Amino acid sequence: MGWWQTQRLVTAVLLGSAVCGCRSRAAPTPSEVAPATGAVPPSYRVVHGWPHVPRGELLGQVSGVGIVAQGDVLVFRRASRSWLSSSDTLSTEPITEPTILRFNAETGELVAAWGARQFAMPHGLSVDHQGNVWLTDVALHQVFKLDPDGRQLLTFGQRGVPGSDRTHFDRPTDVAQGPNGSIYVSDGYRNTRVIQFGPAGAFIRQWGQPGSAPGQFNVPHGIAVDTAGRVYVADRGNARIQVFDSTGRFLAIWRGDSLGRPWAVRVSPDGFIYVVDGGDQPEHGPDRARVLKLSATGEIVAAFGAFGNYDGQFVWPHSVAVASDGSVYVGDVATGRRIQKFVP
Ligand code: ZN
Repeated sequence: MGWWQTQRLVTAVLLGSAVCGCRSRAAPTPSEVAPATGAVPPSYRVVHGWPHVPRGELLGQVSGVGIVAQGDVLVFRRASRSWLSSSDTLSTEPITEPTILRFNAETGELVAAWGARQFAMPHGLSVDHQGNVWLTDVALHQVFKLDPDGRQLLTFGQRGVPGSDRTHFDRPTDVAQGPNGSIYVSDGYRNTRVIQFGPAGAFIRQWGQPGSAPGQFNVPHGIAVDTAGRVYVADRGNARIQVFDSTGRFLAIWRGDSLGRPWAVRVSPDGFIYVVDGGDQPEHGPDRARVLKLSATGEIVAAFGAFGNYDGQFVWPHSVAVASDGSVYVGDVATGRRIQKFVP
């Protein structure tokens, strides 16, 4: 035990036989750890003045953030457009300003801006192992693969047409790449599934239905895959992380008061699971906006941030990215509308 006290969350490991029918498989021992009894002292500090947003420029809602190969930080933002209620009708008219900004991780300088007249309602951003960029647009109902300079490589879904079959999405939220190159899409605000594609985009499988049982979703809002191929889904409406194997077999649920309501999930280069607790649980009041660092078994080992708009605080923290040097970047939508950098 270090100077901080390890905080644990209730981990309910619900085993797969009821879900997948695979009764013959040897079930791992269910584990349950004690609920949290206190707060973890802040273990990260905000970097004041990062980034340098050019004079006269407003970031707008920052929906996604990722780290590109050279260590620069990509920010996916909505510029002059905003989205405040999931019941809003969304325009498919492209945003005229650049929606992707590339900042130097150290100096905070803006080094590139692209994605103008291309996206209508930016949402998820992730960077795959080859350095390509995956984006989702919840107004266009599409998923995009771009090279690091913004050239479009692949497009999934039909522009502006929602659907629930293999070639349509309904407000897709996020993308993650598995170690074997598989692509997993969380879909989304209106569908309740994860879709797995092969590296070239061929449909492999999908899983999930509406609901709160294991394997079901209520707004799968973020997705990440670790080096073993385990798939982590921020099941936002159900206030939990669900863990699956690479083929969608249900492995575990992490939930509890100390975890809050996961909006985003990422696996760091050193194998920790970072979760954004975006709050919005009325019973907890507004003071639920923070970032949690979890071990691979779901134990909280660090936590930072709080609700507010002072430096280091969040209003609606929506996305997170972790660099190889341990820096953590958090994007804020709603009235936060900014990107912040934290260091251990
Ligand atoms: Zn969102």
